[in-house]
Amino acid sequence: MNLSDEIQRRRTFAIISHPDAGKTTLTEKLLLYSGAIDRAGSVKGREGAGHAQSDWMEIEQERGISVTSAAMQFEYRDHVLNLLDTPGHQDFSEDTYRALTAADSVVMLLDCAKGVEEQTKKLFRVANDRGLPIFTFVNKLDRPGREPVELIDEVEELFGLRAVPMTWPIGSGPDFKGVYVRATGQIQVFERAKAGRKARVAGQGSLDDPEISALLTPDELQRLKDDVELMDHVLPAFDLEEFLAGRQSPLFFGSALNNFGIAEFLDEFLDMAPAPHARPLAAGGEVGPESPFTAFVFKVQANMNKAHRDRVAFARVVSGRFERGMDALHVRGQKSIKLNYPHMFFGRERLIVDEAFPGDILGLINPGLFRIGDVLSAAGPVEFHAVPRFSPEQFVSVRLADPGARKGFLKGVQQIAEEGVVQVFWPRGGAPLPILGAVGRLQFDVLQHRLKTEYACPVLMEPRGFQMARWIQGGWPEPSRFWGELVEDSEGRAAILFENDWQRRTTAEKNPDLTFQEHPA
Ligand code: GDP
Repeated sequence: MNLSDEIQRRRTFAIISHPDAGKTTLTEKLLLYSGAIDRAGSVKGREGAGHAQSDWMEIEQERGISVTSAAMQFEYRDHVLNLLDTPGHQDFSEDTYRALTAADSVVMLLDCAKGVEEQTKKLFRVANDRGLPIFTFVNKLDRPGREPVELIDEVEELFGLRAVPMTWPIGSGPDFKGVYVRATGQIQVFERAKAGRKARVAGQGSLDDPEISALLTPDELQRLKDDVELMDHVLPAFDLEEFLAGRQSPLFFGSALNNFGIAEFLDEFLDMAPAPHARPLAAGGEVGPESPFTAFVFKVQANMNKAHRDRVAFARVVSGRFERGMDALHVRGQKSIKLNYPHMFFGRERLIVDEAFPGDILGLINPGLFRIGDVLSAAGPVEFHAVPRFSPEQFVSVRLADPGARKGFLKGVQQIAEEGVVQVFWPRGGAPLPILGAVGRLQFDVLQHRLKTEYACPVLMEPRGFQMARWIQGGWPEPSRFWGELVEDSEGRAAILFENDWQRRTTAEKNPDLTFQEHPA
């Protein structure tokens, strides 16, 4: 197959959701369709979930693949799908945000009873800032939930995004009867699981089909006809351009657990989701997917396998055909390197691959070489826009179990910070040890575990009351005209840590000539 066909058949995407909305379940069902796993449930075992928050090894065991991989590849209908991992919950971290820098589209998964929840909002903002097209899948229709129109309004109010139904639920909760597929005018009738049996599709046909309409009560049929009328006349029509511009979101309804509404979603997803496209360069211009090989690192993961303490850098291929053993320029290091053992993840398996194409995610093993944002290029020294660092929301101070281990600690922290696990802040005016910041608490657990096992440097951590960091432009504020703690980040940039929004606002008011930014410039 030629390069252009390989590009056109690829879809690289992420699922964003709040914990418990059903992301794991949906992922399993998607893999099931592709035959990447032989039965649902084998992607990751989560029996007896309930995360032991601070035991990293346990976390890793429990989540198996989702910790040690960054993406899974599977095939469906002649397409190659790369599903990026976006860990949620306590595991919520910068990695989750950064995965979105490698995606071409996003599926926003909502629980029909809960609608848009906190974590969905955060992830939505990142996806939307990046201009990613967003699908919406409303899950758990077999359970009582909110009215579809209410969910549509919520998405529009919160995000300014117009959700356009592609499917429509017939009833909900105990009365859930199935979905109406707008593109075909067909109904998929849902039959609830009987004891010991699986739920199934009881029938499929058009609204006018007497056999199908007989599966609904006259009231349900009338209600559906009214709903269809409403959708066709009141809601905007789906417009691909508007979707690709991030202003419309095709909306689907179903039940991941019951494997219902997933095929309908997947079919339309393949048609609508964009294939890998050009990526802008920092210096202006862009790299088209058919250019010579380029890729950028968006995640660096210390391999938790104790036997070999390697680090895996996950790189998204931006352009060109990748071949195992090829030479590429490591742009930051200004050195050509040979890419010998690229890994990819298929279902549970990690395999060495011989070829990869734009949109694919390569796992590269090369201890110490790669940092987040690094570019590999067979097209000369190109630079993409920096992979963003996200503003930390949690902070700790550290104490060394062995005060003599300061040097080892600083080295370890620096290396681990380079992987993007935590951010380092030095109090202005001097302090022997830095304050550490992260987006999610798990990042501190990871740091603590790794300092102990990899650097023989056990540390104690004390939470600090800060809630946000702001990078200061224009100089330092005068003493007595700021609230919070002045710090420098690892690159010596001026920043300030605030305990609450009042401190931030007041400091900004008292220093009109300075700006306080959520991200380093
Ligand atoms: P995650 O935290 O988003 O990965 O969510 P999971 O996939 O682990 O799902 C959370 C819980 O919701 C699990 O108990 C699932 O079995 C359940 N669940 C997922 N999808 C559905 C659904 O369609 N209907 C019902 N009733 N439960 C579901």
